[in-house]
Parts: sequence; structure tokens; C-alpha cells
Amino acid sequence: MTIPKHYVVEHLDVELEGWSKLEYLTIATETRPPSSVSTTNTSNGNNNDRPTFHLTSLPRELFENLPEELKAHNNLDATMEEVNKLDGLKAEEVCLLDPRAEKDMCPEDGEVFKWFVFGGILGDDPPRDRTAELRKYGFTGRRLGPVQMTTDTAVRVTRLVVEEKIPLDKVPFVDFPELKISKNETTEMPFRYVKRDDGTPIMPEGMVELIKEDSNKGFLDMM
Ligand code: SAM
Repeated sequence: MTIPKHYVVEHLDVELEGWSKLEYLTIATETRPPSSVSTTNTSNGNNNDRPTFHLTSLPRELFENLPEELKAHNNLDATMEEVNKLDGLKAEEVCLLDPRAEKDMCPEDGEVFKWFVFGGILGDDPPRDRTAELRKYGFTGRRLGPVQMTTDTAVRVTRLVVEEKIPLDKVPFVDFPELKISKNETTEMPFRYVKRDDGTPIMPEGMVELIKEDSNKGFLDMM
């Protein structure tokens, strides 16, 4: 029997950038449990209300002003507590998704780990290893290959491997895709994404528009 999984994003930024908000909304949507699955772990009998996505270490200001779109996801548990304080969490059942881990994630990890922890940070180019901040908890680390992914992609890939049992090297990827941001301009995204059948990268809804806006403001040059 597959153990129900929990996906934890430890928010490491002070604010909630537009990019992170779209990523978190996507994670909340994709980790929502199907309503048809029988319930064993809910307070009101609705399986969709079972927390599957935990947003931890939120600064008070953000916790108290969490966007309504995020709050609307009943499977989201938002807290100011750090990940190691989550109810029911046992350290030996936790896997930290760490780009510097020695071992890559494999389908069998789905039988060992119940909790998967990710850094809630925007990627940077070159990567600054901010995931290091999460190593203090001492959780077992797993890598998703050598290329940095956005947080929502890392959650998506983890779910494909541990829930769908697809080996990492069979997941279709597209690296550093170019996005057309205006008639004559493209920008290269410094990340690995899951590839759709038509070859395009899976990105959160609204992300391309946000990237276009930010590039007009010169924001992408700072990355
Ligand atoms: N530049 C980064 C850093 O400073 O560590 C990568 C941050 S990445 C945008 C956000 C999170 O996704 C990471 O903290 C990690 O949990 C997960 N992640 C991204 N790519 C990964 C990879 N190749 N292997 C394992 N985890 C990854």
C-alpha cells in the first residue's frame, strides 16, 4: 500500500514574491487529494481537506496576510512553525530535496519517506545553495538530478517518481527553455522543467505573463 504523502515547502524568503505565489498555488492544486479516495485522516470526512501541502516558517506578516487564493485550498496547512514542528512528523520519514545530496531520488523512496521538504526560494543563476539553510534539521537528502528546478517543478518531479513510480531518468525534461517575451526578445529560464508532449515546459498558470511583466521592468537582469 502506498503511504499518503506530505509535501512541505519551508518558506525562506521574507516576502511572498509573485513568482513564489504562483508556484505555491500550483503545488496546492497538484497535491490536492482526489475526492474519490477513501478518507482515514480527516476531521470532517472530506478527503480534499486532508493537509497534503504544508507551507512552513511563514513570517508573521505573511501568515496573517496570506493571499485568499492560497487560503482557498483546503489541503494547504500554512504555519509560522518550522518544518520539524509539524504534527505527526517523524525525522526518519522525512526527505529533504537537496540539489547537493549524494543520492538521486528513486521510486523505492516512496516506500521509505512520507514527508518531502523543499526550499521555498526563487532560483538564482548561478545557484547560491540556499537549500543549505534546511540541512540543519538533519533529514535524509535526495537529489533530482544535477540541474536546478523551480520549487513547483521539484515537487512535480518528486511526485512523478515516488507516487507514479517513474524513474528519474524516464521523466521528460526541458532545460533552460527560451521564452518569447516580445516580438523581438526572448529570455532563457535558468531551470529544468517537466516537458509536455508538445515539447513546452510545464509552468504555473500566469507565470509567462509575470515573466513578461518582470522583464519589462528589468527584473530578470538581476537573476
Ligand atoms: N538555487 C537554489 C538553491 O539556492 O539551493 C535552488 C533552489 S530551487 C529554486 C528550490 C528548491 O527546489 C530547493 O530548495 C530544493 O528543495 C528543490 N530543488 C530544485 N532543484 C533540485 C534538484 N536538482 N535536486 C533536488 N532538489 C531540488
